[in-house]
Amino acid sequence: MTDKISEQGAQQLDVVVVGAGFAGLYLVHKLRSLGYDVLGLEAAADVGGTWYWNRYPGARCDVESLQYSYSFSEELQQEWRWSERFAPQPEILAYLGHVADRFDLRRSFLFNTRVASARYEESANLWSIATEAGKCFSARFCIMATGNLSVGRIPEFAGLQDFAGEIYHTGNWPHEGVDFTGKRVGVVGTGSSAVQSIPPIAQQAEHLYVFQRTPHFSVPARNGPIEDQYDSEWKRNYPAQRAKARSTRSGVLYDYGTKSALEVDAGEHAVELGRRWEKGGTNFLYAYNDTLRSEASNQISADFVRERIGEIVIDPTVADKLMPKDYPIGTKRICVDTDFYATFNRPNVTLVDVRPSPITGFDQTSLKTADASYQLDAVVFATGFDAMTGALLKMDIVGRNGHSLRDKWAEGPKTYLGLAIAGFPNMFIVTGPGSPSVLSNVVIAIEQHVEWIVDCIEKMEHEGIATIEAEESAQQEWVDHVNDVACQTLYYQANSWFLGANVPGKPRIFMPYVGGFDTYVAKCDDVVRNGYAGFIKTKDQAEAIPA
Ligand SMILES: Cc1cc2nc3c(=O)[nH]c(=O)nc-3n(C[C@H](O)[C@H](O)[C@H](O)COP(=O)(O)OP(=O)(O)OC[C@H]3O[C@@H](n4cnc5c(N)ncnc54)[C@H](O)[C@@H]3O)c2cc1C
Repeated sequence: MTDKISEQGAQQLDVVVVGAGFAGLYLVHKLRSLGYDVLGLEAAADVGGTWYWNRYPGARCDVESLQYSYSFSEELQQEWRWSERFAPQPEILAYLGHVADRFDLRRSFLFNTRVASARYEESANLWSIATEAGKCFSARFCIMATGNLSVGRIPEFAGLQDFAGEIYHTGNWPHEGVDFTGKRVGVVGTGSSAVQSIPPIAQQAEHLYVFQRTPHFSVPARNGPIEDQYDSEWKRNYPAQRAKARSTRSGVLYDYGTKSALEVDAGEHAVELGRRWEKGGTNFLYAYNDTLRSEASNQISADFVRERIGEIVIDPTVADKLMPKDYPIGTKRICVDTDFYATFNRPNVTLVDVRPSPITGFDQTSLKTADASYQLDAVVFATGFDAMTGALLKMDIVGRNGHSLRDKWAEGPKTYLGLAIAGFPNMFIVTGPGSPSVLSNVVIAIEQHVEWIVDCIEKMEHEGIATIEAEESAQQEWVDHVNDVACQTLYYQANSWFLGANVPGKPRIFMPYVGGFDTYVAKCDDVVRNGYAGFIKTKDQAEAIPA
């Protein structure tokens, strides 16, 4: 790492990377191996990102581990042995720790270091990055690898500060774990983290109350150990399997149905959906090619899940409450569970539907709804994240002409390809709004972004280009395109976090790109082939390039 110090006393680098999750680790590895002076800044005490923070019981990935992992190093993917089809959080965290050790990455990071601001200094063509603790760095490039689901949120409930019991958020779980034995526990929320954590919490708690506003569709994981034969089959063909996955619309090797559900009869639906339900995982959603575009087709898969809920949950009133009815399946992130629905058959579990009787707040001992009061020893907020924009807007990011990102995005995020923002030269974001990100295998999406960004920096170095910046018009065209493709789907029919609907006051914009990972990659490659079409490049600041 450099010892260069600017006149203002800031350490000078080629690149500052913010974040030490899958994205930050790969960026630092790649840039450092190309000889760049790169520093990573991370708020947490260690590497891992999502998997550092989300330590709640039951946390695991829902893309199969053999695919939810880096593909950039054949040796790495050969040597790591995943124990389960969907690895639990400790194992994913151990994997990222192994990656950090293997490539000696920790020495290029400062941990316990939260970035407060990043400001583009136009005259010097440098980014000035300041931490909350007052440390300053300056770098030619600033890359935000700050994650899409890294800012947890707890809704504002009256009296929460008076509640004397324990308070947790799934996205910031205590490292020492939590023992709920003998306790009355409330889980607020029924999205992905709730669906994963409710069954293990129910096994411990004296009584568990689940406060549900909107039921979610969940499919069984059918998780289990990875057999040696399955592992070696994958590993024998790893590069080919990865290439195949990258050419799909979600970056995952699913069994993609090629027909509309409307082309086949009810008997075939039962067989095909039944087969996928038994196999487990989100592959269920890909039975037909129009599930997310045709309401009639969607209803067939949605009805199938509702029927399964009706079969699993013994009390018909509880089953009915758990059945999502007012949005199409897949338009909110589909959950993958182990015994979620069956947990509501336990005598120590109560489902509280807070749609008709909303949570009004807390007092010292209880959570209160409009018509009842629930005494709790602990409350777990599984209330999700300020998704996709939260981490970026928490920082004070200021680009050209002193314009802040908060102002630029006041009406919703605007990016070019989810990678760059007009007015913010030499700043890149990884899996930003406008890219497939959370609608794909995020690790594969991260690898594609990291490689695109590093390639771009390399080309700039070789061609003596001082700045690269998205053109306003190209950005607007991309934003319109992202919106147009979302409008051709059913996604707008759900009040999801994809749309920012879980955060009061957040602009309602469909943030991820639904046009498909394969289509998106082709577009990014085209942009490069056409000399970075849609980007403005300036050449005259050779002195601004650190030697
Ligand atoms: C519970 C859970 C399960 C998931 N399961 C899957 C799955 O199965 N498949 C899938 O594809 N995706 C899944 N995801 C999405 C997951 O976030 C991504 O797969 C991936 O881990 C993101 O990596 P990242 O490096 O982009 O971001 P993160 O892992 O979120 O890392 C970002 C890091 O940036 C740091 N940071 C943010 N702001 C600052 C700042 N101002 N200063 C310093 N540091 C900062 C954060 O502390 C964090 O460590 C899941 C997410 C969650 C929450």
